Amino acid sequence: MHGLMMRAQLTVNSLIEHAAKFHGDTEIVSRTVEGPIHRTTYGEAFHRVHKLAGVLAGLGVGNGDRVATLAWNGYRHLELYFAISGMGAVCHTINPRLFPDQITFIVGHAADKVIFVDLTFVPVLEAIAGGLSGVNAIVIMTDNDHMPETSLPNALCFEDLMAGASEGFDWPEIDENTASSLCYSSGTTGNPKGVLYSHRSTVLHSFAACSHDGLALSAADSILPVVPMFHVNAWGIPYGAAMAGAKLVLPGAGMDGGSVWELLDNERVTLAAGVPTIWMLLLQYLKESGKSLPHLERTIIGGSALPQSMIETFEETYDVAAIHAWGMTEMSPLGTTAHLKGKMQDLPDVEKMAYKVKQGRPVYGVDIKIVDDDYQSLPHDGVAFGELCVKGPWIVGDYYEDADASEQAKTDDGWFRTGDVCTIDAEGFMLIVDRSKDVIKSGGEWISSIELENIAVGHDAVAEAAVIGAPHAKWGERPLLVCVLNNGASVSGDDLIQFYDGKIPKWSWPDAVEFVDELPHTATGKIQKLKLRETYSDYKFASE
Ligand code: AMP
Repeated sequence: MHGLMMRAQLTVNSLIEHAAKFHGDTEIVSRTVEGPIHRTTYGEAFHRVHKLAGVLAGLGVGNGDRVATLAWNGYRHLELYFAISGMGAVCHTINPRLFPDQITFIVGHAADKVIFVDLTFVPVLEAIAGGLSGVNAIVIMTDNDHMPETSLPNALCFEDLMAGASEGFDWPEIDENTASSLCYSSGTTGNPKGVLYSHRSTVLHSFAACSHDGLALSAADSILPVVPMFHVNAWGIPYGAAMAGAKLVLPGAGMDGGSVWELLDNERVTLAAGVPTIWMLLLQYLKESGKSLPHLERTIIGGSALPQSMIETFEETYDVAAIHAWGMTEMSPLGTTAHLKGKMQDLPDVEKMAYKVKQGRPVYGVDIKIVDDDYQSLPHDGVAFGELCVKGPWIVGDYYEDADASEQAKTDDGWFRTGDVCTIDAEGFMLIVDRSKDVIKSGGEWISSIELENIAVGHDAVAEAAVIGAPHAKWGERPLLVCVLNNGASVSGDDLIQFYDGKIPKWSWPDAVEFVDELPHTATGKIQKLKLRETYSDYKFASE
């Protein structure tokens, strides 16, 4: 017997419609590429989204066509999110930090029909123009006054198109399983793989983002997603914020500590989200400038492991809760958050911290398990570790047009293999020990590079740290700590190694330390361990 409830479709358009109807005067604030701060509201944005859908139709975009964006977090990008998906096309966000060859590959693989590009990234497209023959139109996301000289053929101006657009675009009826957006995950090996989200998966993910133990987005919040809209849809925050009716603050290209602080303060931001590197820059800025964070209540930190020292600084110095979260492009991205349970609230601080540093427990909708090399499930005892597998309605079923990658990632019983090596404790809190390819295998023992990095950045002199397994004649691999020091700080390698004393067993301490000016990062801000392993492939430890 079927239930007798309405069969309303879960669509992306319904999110912006809701925001416009019930939160019409709630602000969307953007730091623009052109310079000034821009202010609009959900009501005005909805109006422009309709016009923009008409523009897209005029450019020949139809049902299911892919429309690419290379853009910062800003109001025009937000309008594109809703206009493209709302008219039944697919919003394909491209990470402009990818190598030019990778961008050419994914534009071709996705068969993008139109590309929208921010001023900053026009040179990126100019450099690969020869590989864009399948693209019908390129639209530069600016007004007529700021249109650049460009070698791109037939470049169009966003605001000119909007000025000529008619008002009355009718949304088509959309089945909730229709594709809404596309994001390529930039693995360290092989070609990027496309994750094709649906209207339904996006709306369900937004409910999870709004849930209290998810990201807790609310109409009472002013939210600053520093995580880019070209990386997993800014963790789904643009959709979730519309669902919640939250004020949205979009930082444009200003990711440095000073620019982020200015928005946090001026826009009375209550909730911010980003990767640890962004918060490292902010915390350095606060320390140097003596500024504080009077409005910020909480910050969601994920993408890479959140070090304990960062949680402590946020809590103790700035009275801000730093909440650890984990996810993947393949998961829209939300998987787990480290919100404490009721029974944990009265634990001693050290025991609470032991939970807060973990990547956290699954939100409803995401199931997790760990398996050994034979795909046998391992116990949730906080000790056994194995590959994390996940399952749920906003997790990739198949990669877009990539049967081999899909085959490798899927299990016969319908789980997705994450490639993360984890423990899960009796409370369901997951801890990432490492990416399976980054774990250090020393004489039959496994050493977590993440654990060693987290300890290193707890040292006052250290700004950023990476630990890799470098080849060792006796042990196979030993941990090598590569780190960047804070401005003006100094510490010897031996002193840094001694810093591990009393924190972890001696056999897992780094064997050696190398100091560098800068660590290599991937297009999504993670440390490029593969590159470091190449750099130090002939490393000789003193102990060899
Ligand atoms: P991406 O698809 O680029 O977002 O990368 C997903 C991967 O980033 C995950 O599989 C993890 O390896 C890593 N990751 C994400 N969040 C965290 C976190 N909180 N701690 C450690 N690694 C993380």
